[in-house]
Amino acid sequence: MLGSVVIVGGGTSGWMTAAYLRRALGDKVSVTLVESKRIKTIGVGEATFSTVRHFFDYLGMAEHEWMPRCNATYKLGIRFENWREKGHYFYHPFERLPVVDGFPLTDWWLAKQPGPRFDQDVFLMSSIVDNERSPRFLDGTLFEQEFVERAGDPARTTLSEQSTQFPYAYQFDASLLADYLCEYATERGARHIEDDVLDVVRDERGWISHVVTKEHGDLTGDLFIDCTGFRGLLINQALEEPFVSYQDTLPNDSAVALRVPVDMEKRGLRPCTTATAQDAGWIWTIPLYGRIGTGYVYASDYCGPEEAERTLREFVGPEAGDLEANHIRMRIGRTRQSWVNNCVAIGLSSGFVEPLESTGIFFIQHGIEQLVKHFPDAGWDPGLRSSYNTAVARVMDGVREFLVLHYHCAARADNAYWRDAKTRALPDGLAERLEQWRSKLPSTDTIYPHYHGFEPYSYLSMLLGLGGLELKPANAVSLMDDSRAADEFRRIKDLSHDLVKRLPSQYEYLSQMR
Ligand code: FAD
Repeated sequence: MLGSVVIVGGGTSGWMTAAYLRRALGDKVSVTLVESKRIKTIGVGEATFSTVRHFFDYLGMAEHEWMPRCNATYKLGIRFENWREKGHYFYHPFERLPVVDGFPLTDWWLAKQPGPRFDQDVFLMSSIVDNERSPRFLDGTLFEQEFVERAGDPARTTLSEQSTQFPYAYQFDASLLADYLCEYATERGARHIEDDVLDVVRDERGWISHVVTKEHGDLTGDLFIDCTGFRGLLINQALEEPFVSYQDTLPNDSAVALRVPVDMEKRGLRPCTTATAQDAGWIWTIPLYGRIGTGYVYASDYCGPEEAERTLREFVGPEAGDLEANHIRMRIGRTRQSWVNNCVAIGLSSGFVEPLESTGIFFIQHGIEQLVKHFPDAGWDPGLRSSYNTAVARVMDGVREFLVLHYHCAARADNAYWRDAKTRALPDGLAERLEQWRSKLPSTDTIYPHYHGFEPYSYLSMLLGLGGLELKPANAVSLMDDSRAADEFRRIKDLSHDLVKRLPSQYEYLSQMR
């Protein structure tokens, strides 16, 4: 039996891991988390993916408890602005596409063009977000009745086996969430040490025997989890596991961020993250309850840090005032194997792609859940390790491919940065898939073949919104009776109007929750 886990690092990844392990494995496995008071967490990472809901559910954390504590808001999707051309926007929502007579509604939309905006015609969410509505009515019921909430359902604990699409994710203050999870984990028996790890000591086999701390002596354990962020103190530095860079296909390597207090009552609270394309990258806008998290993700080959900060401040306007900017150098790619010997990397030490689809916390959640599924025993079966490493690598490689598509297929080509995005090397397999999608829109059979969190509807939303790839509907759609498709377009239009009328604003809902 394997009895003790030592987690090094107390950012989002460290505390998510500690909380999850205590919940999943209880007292059978002791959990010690050591974090430095001196080395700060990354200080960003506020928007999530809709599957994070299953993480909170599994921990038994109720929205009305944790959301106010973390200044959290709802996120129904991502709004992409200026990726096709200046002034244009579209949504990539958390909403699967209706299927009519065997074809996703996007085929019907391309054939019939019932309106100017595909996202408004095929999804309910677009109108709800445009009108800043809450996804819940004031009595707490969810607008999307097809998704049945079954609190505590034991089947709904993992990511890859979800059959339903939850209609929203969250945006929150990551440091407040880490505090909340710290409370959760320590109340359930996790040991918390605030100290610097000065050395990582390996035994004769090369496995980690203990870490040496400044004030608490040696910390021994069976399994060590590296949550030390981009520095990868255990996995990359001590175990020397190489890092596989994605920089050749995703050149954005820097970010500058601001935390901007705003009056939400006056400004309103749009329930989405916005990604606004810029000359050398894009700016994220994440509305939290009481402030905006914003930042410019850019490629240092095309833009310097001063210019990036200036652009961000101009974008934010007078509210940016003299707020201090956080400049971050990003390590884009993944550690070749996230699990080596008795060390597992979770969080930024394991891998990271730019936050365009808010996948950082999703990677963490995936890593933790896979760790529990592959949890070792005293035999340390190497098959568990290799199966874990394959699952983690595939998720990140798949997301990389999806992100490359955002740049390659954006119609925007008004400067060297956006033009180069069209000719840059593509990850293996993507060129062939793009060719295929010119003839037949993406489907389960033709997207990246392994679980990576994104489904065909995500690819369809992006390709239709970005506008850089010529798309055509299935030929059969033009020959078929379209009355049922017309009914579906009408149903979405009517229901959108009705929901916009009946749902409270997100600001109203969250204020009531508080
Ligand atoms: P960190 O936050 O860097 O924490 C590292 C921890 O290790 C700290 O507690 C530190 O004290 C500790 N540590 C380091 N060295 C030692 C030592 N020697 N001894 C003891 N302790 C040590 N993700 C999303 O899901 N959504 C987003 O919108 C999003 N936006 C992002 C924007 C940017 C610009 C970046 C760079 C990332 C973003 N991410 C996002 C990713 C997200 O921020 C991270 O996945 C998340 O914060 C996890 O970080 P971490 O815990 O792995 O590392």
